[in-house]
Amino acid sequence: MSELKEKWQQKTEDYGFKVKIPSDLLSTFDEHNPNDPLTKQFIPSIDESKGDGLIDPLQEHDIIHGGIIQKYKHRVLITTTGACAIHCRYCFRRHFPYEGNSILKHLDQLIQYLSDHPDINEVILSGGDPLMLKNHHLKKIFDALQSLKTINIVRFHTRIPTVLPKRIDYAFKQLIKEYNQWHWVIVTHVNHANELNDQNKLAIDTLKSLGITMLNQSVLLKDINDTVDTLQTLSLKLFNHGILPYYLHQFDPVKGAMHFEVPMSKGRHLIKELQTVLPGYLVPKYVQEQPGQPNKTIL
Ligand code: SF4
Repeated sequence: MSELKEKWQQKTEDYGFKVKIPSDLLSTFDEHNPNDPLTKQFIPSIDESKGDGLIDPLQEHDIIHGGIIQKYKHRVLITTTGACAIHCRYCFRRHFPYEGNSILKHLDQLIQYLSDHPDINEVILSGGDPLMLKNHHLKKIFDALQSLKTINIVRFHTRIPTVLPKRIDYAFKQLIKEYNQWHWVIVTHVNHANELNDQNKLAIDTLKSLGITMLNQSVLLKDINDTVDTLQTLSLKLFNHGILPYYLHQFDPVKGAMHFEVPMSKGRHLIKELQTVLPGYLVPKYVQEQPGQPNKTIL
């Protein structure tokens, strides 16, 4: 274990949310810079001890049944695992009841649900991080979905291609190739250009070579990406990696992470400015998920 990893894991209070960072990524942190955007996202801060914020900001805990969450028409989200390759300190699911909600234990229920709702044509694999599952577990899910003619889009929400790019290996590539009847979409999660490097570019190239549509969602985070310059650089670097900026999320007010919140007025201003320095296709939609609404709210 590197000295740095040891320092963070043993000497840092984790406020009930374990510190987890892949070693290769940790080596890119600028440990001498307290404002390093990676340190700020993944290393706990004493601000996490403050009691404000909500345990379940998106009101998901009561609507999830056996790993199935349906918020919007025509698509359903499934929680595949509670595990992630990295723990983001601002995660809105940091208090999520993953136990009992792994879809692998409820595949029959999922197929029944999708059969009863033939209008659903897209399945979103979420978590945790769905790419933490072993390939044979993913295959089990894909084989179950394959029995339905109504599904034609399968989407992953994952941080793995950028934080643990070696996961995108030959075996994964072969697995995806087996299911060429679907449109595949991967929504990565990158908040700052420093998260993109030559190693993860190779992983993204592999995914692109499979014809997968690559999109990115970011969260607007205080002192991490809340300037025009930072967001502009992020969009340009994502584009260089072959990924289109999709959403910039307003922070979800989760307990223990309120110090990341950026006022909405500032977010709106940033987007307005971004529109003047980027082509429209590189300006993400600034959105907020409001529980109970039929779609994300554009801010
Ligand atoms: S990878 Fe996603 S689910 Fe996991 S901690 Fe980060 S934001 Fe949360």
